[in-house]
Amino acid sequence: MAIVKLERIKEFINISPAAEMLLEKNEKEISFSVNFKTKDDEIIFCDAFVVYHNVVLGPAKGGIRMDPNVTLEETRRLAKIMTYKNALTELPFGGGKSGIKIPTNTNISEFIRISIFKEYVHMIREELIAEHYIPAPDLGTDPFDMAVIYGELHKPECVTGKPVKIGGLPGRLEATGRSVATSTKLYVEEIMKKKLENMKIAIQGFGNVGRWTSYFLYKWGAKIVAVSDIYGGIYNEKGFDIEKLFEYAPTKDITISDYPESEKITNEELLEMDVDILIPCATGGVINKENGKYLKCKAIIEGANDPVTEEADKILEEMGIEVLPDFLCNSGGVIASYIEWRNAKSGNQTEKEETFNEIDKKIIKCFHKVKETKEKLNITYRESATLLAVKFLIEAMHERRWL
Ligand code: NAD
Repeated sequence: MAIVKLERIKEFINISPAAEMLLEKNEKEISFSVNFKTKDDEIIFCDAFVVYHNVVLGPAKGGIRMDPNVTLEETRRLAKIMTYKNALTELPFGGGKSGIKIPTNTNISEFIRISIFKEYVHMIREELIAEHYIPAPDLGTDPFDMAVIYGELHKPECVTGKPVKIGGLPGRLEATGRSVATSTKLYVEEIMKKKLENMKIAIQGFGNVGRWTSYFLYKWGAKIVAVSDIYGGIYNEKGFDIEKLFEYAPTKDITISDYPESEKITNEELLEMDVDILIPCATGGVINKENGKYLKCKAIIEGANDPVTEEADKILEEMGIEVLPDFLCNSGGVIASYIEWRNAKSGNQTEKEETFNEIDKKIIKCFHKVKETKEKLNITYRESATLLAVKFLIEAMHERRWL
């Protein structure tokens, strides 16, 4: 659910009907088809979407998701989350998202991938070259796909999340995981009043976000007792050596579900584990009304976008399981994208540690303002973060004379 319904925060902030309309409706939606012929003369048709939710703060920014489950509805939801994420972190970007619905997410050859992204650029070239929509990686896409986009456009500021050697940002790859790990550390130390050392943590998803979240938390002393990918999960009560897991599965194409020295578990079992912190880093809606009541973790840090449904959010609140929302915790990706975009425009270069420091600084600031508002108004973290983002967006809409 990411963001709460506006009714839930209206007693704390004046939202006029016009402001509400501008926050609810999408500014632009593009639906198209990416069609190409493979080496074996097979014709592939992929539905594709670009959604601009609200661009009061700047050009539409958000990743490209490539997955068999992509829908226009999902792309709309994710674009909206980007509007709120950019507003909460005070970045000069609007909310955008793109999706490519591929027939399967296994066995896609490099040749097919390159064809998909070349055709994608051809279909929306004007949007990209004018920087109306600035893509980045998301579920199912990676820096090499962004390199193909750059190769078609030859303008480094038109796409972020590129490989470092072609104008990408050192630290962008790790950036989302970094912010999820920093959010977890802040929650453990400042809310639970505990130390990260020996905290038992379960992480769903071992792609970009999951692997880097687990890496930083492991380095900071936490015990990562369970991890998973789409093929299944693994459990080790002593905690995994995450560097060894990286060696075993250097890319997400190699599943960690067969890793030795571990007990095999399902994704469902991972979510219901008795751990201190659960961090979903795979896909949306995995914590829902069916499994919500079986959760045993003490808190949830949302690494993925939209992993907890509205019904589950309510169940968790009644059970006293706090949830730190996605648009705060996983904003490291867009914060790093902003630095990459800024560098592309200015010619500046940034070291990896500087990237991490800038992400941490923003996350610490956002965490504290969300915590302060939550405590002052006695609301949830999600309500507090939504309220702060809405306030920022309404003020910006006044400044643009939209209101
Ligand atoms: P990814 O494709 O790199 O990795 C996804 C991981 O989740 C893989 O390990 C995959 O096997 C696993 N997975 C996919 N479907 C699953 C399922 N149904 N059940 C269990 N595991 C499943 O993707 P990513 O970039 O790590 O993105 C993960 C989530 O984080 C998405 O919700 C994405 O929108 C969000 N996100 C990503 C970024 C980013 O910078 N990459 C930024 C913000 C938010």
